[in-house]
Amino acid sequence: MQIEHSYAGLPETLFELCAPTPVAAPRWLAFNHKLAAELGFDPALAETAAGLQLLAGNQLPDWTKPLAQAYSGHQFGHLSPRLGDGRALLLAEIIDKKQQRRDIQLKGAGPTPYSRRGDGRSALGPVIREYLVSEAMHALGVPTSRALAAVITGETVYRDQPKPGGILTRVAASHIRIGTFQFASMLQDGSSLKSLADYVINRHYPACTDTPQPYLALLNQVIRAQAVLVAQWMSLGFIHGVMNTDNMSVSGETIDYGPCAFIDQFDPNTVFSSIDQQGRYAYRNQPMIAQWNLARLAEALLPLLAESEAKAVEVATAALNDFPDLYHQAWQDRMSAKLGLASTAAAKTLAEQLLQLMAANKVDFTICFRTLAFAVSDAAAAQGPASLFADQQGWLVWAAQWQQQLQGEPAAMQQAMNAVNPFFIPRNHQIELMISQVTEQNDFTLFQQFARDLSMPFTETANNQRWAAAAPESDMPYRTFC
Ligand code: AMP
Ligand code: MG
Ligand code: MG
Repeated sequence: MQIEHSYAGLPETLFELCAPTPVAAPRWLAFNHKLAAELGFDPALAETAAGLQLLAGNQLPDWTKPLAQAYSGHQFGHLSPRLGDGRALLLAEIIDKKQQRRDIQLKGAGPTPYSRRGDGRSALGPVIREYLVSEAMHALGVPTSRALAAVITGETVYRDQPKPGGILTRVAASHIRIGTFQFASMLQDGSSLKSLADYVINRHYPACTDTPQPYLALLNQVIRAQAVLVAQWMSLGFIHGVMNTDNMSVSGETIDYGPCAFIDQFDPNTVFSSIDQQGRYAYRNQPMIAQWNLARLAEALLPLLAESEAKAVEVATAALNDFPDLYHQAWQDRMSAKLGLASTAAAKTLAEQLLQLMAANKVDFTICFRTLAFAVSDAAAAQGPASLFADQQGWLVWAAQWQQQLQGEPAAMQQAMNAVNPFFIPRNHQIELMISQVTEQNDFTLFQQFARDLSMPFTETANNQRWAAAAPESDMPYRTFC
C-alpha cells in the first residue's frame, strides 16, 4: 500500500494531531471488500483482529498519523469561525490502484481539540445511513465520499436518548471544505491561505497551475464542480439536508451525509431534516444555496485573487456569475437524458413541465422517471407512468409533446433511459427499517441484502424488486434526525 501524509505538511494552523479514543467492544457491521481492493488493502483485513482494531480506532499501525482538520463554516447562514473535525480523524492518505490520492478517515472516533461540547462519537443509525447512501450515490454515478467500513463500538452514546455507537471509515478525494478556506482566510497570517490554495490546486485541480491566474482558475473549477454535482443531486431527487459551507467539499464530491434523503412523492419544497425549520436546504433551494456557499469561498480567496481588493471582488463576482449557466446546462444535460432526448432547450422545457405535473399529482420521482421508458411509443402503457397521474389529461398532453421530440429506435431509447433513470434508490422507509433492525434487533440481514444490491441501481433483477416499491402513505411525511 502506498501511504502518504501530505495534509500534515500544511501549516500547523490547519490541523491538530490527535489520537482516536479506544472503544469498549468493537465488532463489524460492514466491510466494503471491493473498495478495500481498490485501495490496495489486504483483503483479509476484515477477517483479522488487527483490521477491526484499526477501524475501531483502538490500535493504530505505524503507517497512520491521525489528525483533525480545522475548518469554519456558515451553519444555516451563520458563521461559526471555529468548527473542525470534532468527531472525525484523518488516518492517512492512500494512493490507490489508479494512482488517486484518497483520505482514510474515521468518523466517530472520539473527541478532538475541535469537539467543543460534543462527545466525538457517532450514533450507529447515522453511520448506517451514511454507509448505504454514500455507496448508493457512488453506484448512481454521483461523485461522493465512500464507505470502507462500519464498526459497532459496543458503547452507548447519548443523544435525545441512549443509542448504540458506531464508527464509519470514510474514503474521500479529500475532506477539504469551503469552510477550510474560510478558516485559513480568517487566520490572516499571510501564509495559511496560500499554502492551502496551492495544496488544493496541486491535489485536485493541477491544470490551474498552467493558467495566468491559478487561484481564480481554482475558484472557477470549484464553481464548475459544484454546479455539476448539485445538478446530479436534483436529477435524482436527492436532498443533502445540511448544505452548510463546512459540508461542501471543494473536490466536488458529496460529503457529510447527515439528514439526507431522496424524494419519494415529488414536491420541490421537500425538506426532510428536522433541524431545518425554515426549509433553507429544501430540494428546490439547493442550486441557489450552492451558489451562496461558493460566494463564501470566493470571499475567502479574495486576498489571492488580485492585488487590489476592488479588482479581486470584480473577478470573483464574474466567476460566481457563471454559476447559473453552468448549473442550468448541467441540469438540462441530465434531465434531457432522463427523457431520452438530446440536450436542447425544448427538452429542458419538457423536463420542467413534467416536474410541475409530477408535483401537482404527487407522483413518485424515481418510479415516474424509470417507467417513462415504457411510454416511449404508448403513453397509456400499463407499465408506464400513466397510472401515477390523477390528471390523466395532463399526462397525455405532456406525453404527446414528449413523444414528438423522441428520435430513434424505441429499444435503443429505452435502454439509454434505463441507464440514467435508476430502478431503485435508497428508499427512506427501507433505510429506517435497516437502521431499526440493526440497532434494535441486532439483525443485519436487510442491511446486508441492500448493501449487496445497491451496486446495480440501473438493472432490474429478481433480488432488487423490493427496493423499488414506493413508500407506504403511512410513512409520510418522512423526517430525518441527525
Ligand atoms: P455536522 O453537522 O455533522 O456537519 O457537524 C458540524 C460540526 O459539529 C463539525 O465541526 C463536527 O465535527 C461537529 N460535531 C458534530 N457532532 C459532534 C460530536 N458528536 N462531537 C463532537 N463534534 C461534533
Ligand atoms: Mg495544529
Ligand atoms: Mg459536517
